Amino acid sequence: MSTGNVLAVAELEAGGPTGLTLELIAVARSIATAKGGKVIAACLGADVDEAVGGDLVARGADEVHVVDNALLEPYQADAWLPDLEALSGEVDPAAVLLPHTSFGADLAPRLAFRLGSTTATGCVDVDADAADILFTRPCYGGIARERVSFESSPAVATIKTKSFDALPRDDSRSGGIVARDAIVTPDRVRTRVVARDTEGAAGARLENARVVVAGGRGVGGPDGFAAARELADALDGAVGASRVACDLGWCPPGYQIGLSGKTVAPDLYIALGISGAGQHMAGCGNARTIVAINTDEDADIFASARFGVVGDCREILPYLVEEMRKIEK
Ligand SMILES: Cc1cc2nc3c(=O)[nH]c(=O)nc-3n(C[C@H](O)[C@H](O)[C@H](O)COP(=O)(O)OP(=O)(O)OC[C@H]3O[C@@H](n4cnc5c(N)ncnc54)[C@H](O)[C@@H]3O)c2cc1C
Repeated sequence: MSTGNVLAVAELEAGGPTGLTLELIAVARSIATAKGGKVIAACLGADVDEAVGGDLVARGADEVHVVDNALLEPYQADAWLPDLEALSGEVDPAAVLLPHTSFGADLAPRLAFRLGSTTATGCVDVDADAADILFTRPCYGGIARERVSFESSPAVATIKTKSFDALPRDDSRSGGIVARDAIVTPDRVRTRVVARDTEGAAGARLENARVVVAGGRGVGGPDGFAAARELADALDGAVGASRVACDLGWCPPGYQIGLSGKTVAPDLYIALGISGAGQHMAGCGNARTIVAINTDEDADIFASARFGVVGDCREILPYLVEEMRKIEK
């Protein structure tokens, strides 16, 4: 019988927790409160900034377990698993939550396997008031949603960005910050990172960007993405893409937004030459404002767009870039 504890696995960026990690802590808080347990955050990495523990407590964690070891950076599942498995064994969580990013999607099923459980990926809602914890996730290419509960324990789930609001910072909260010795040893790490290619490093990270300029087949080729990058730069945003554009090799695969790509929820999503297929919208439908430019006035994207322009994005883009550069930041 597990406790009502919830283990949230933090993803760090530039020394601090990502926005999605803070959202994860909020979900963990709601489950732990309903189940009468604690929120325990796992913070793994090398040279982890001491302030991170306090940040996570202020956002709702009761305990933050920090494992600081050179083997844990850059992230590799082999390196992270021994410590997460051990921590999970100690705190006996009802649920283990990870961000639905390439990091979390890679780690969650492996961790679930080690814990003798299974995983629900890309969850957008959680109901902890029922006897079981119920997770809601998109299915059938994003056109339907299913609610799942677990027959195994713990429930291991990845949470999609912007599905929940992070809790407001409360510096009066107190919590324990536990520095743990790493269990992982070099012989446990069977993979070796020989090079790291950071796609789109020139722009804001796609998942956290406030503005995303995304290109589809309609941008016409790699040049279209260079133009999309100019617009993104003018707006301090990031560049994304439809699967077709990635498959055609017009941009790196890491740009893909959608069901089988990344999930974004920016304030502004500019869709250039994208038809608006359900599988694409599954990754950007939570954007606050969608602006679409498409030659086909009947394109599905216009049903989701707040502002739409019927026209050739290759003709319109240079004017748009020019105008956006005039905006004072
Ligand atoms: C299991 C599964 C998973 C999938 N996962 C994803 C995913 O994660 N992400 C994703 O994006 N797709 C995904 N897809 C594919 C998805 O179904 C669509 O095929 C894809 O999104 C279409 O990409 P697109 O809009 O760029 O291309 P198209 O559908 O070919 O649309 C191109 C659009 O550009 C417009 N256009 C053409 N020329 C211009 C121009 N000069 N100016 C302006 N507009 C122009 C056209 O009118 C058209 O609307 C998935 C499919 C499956 C089956």
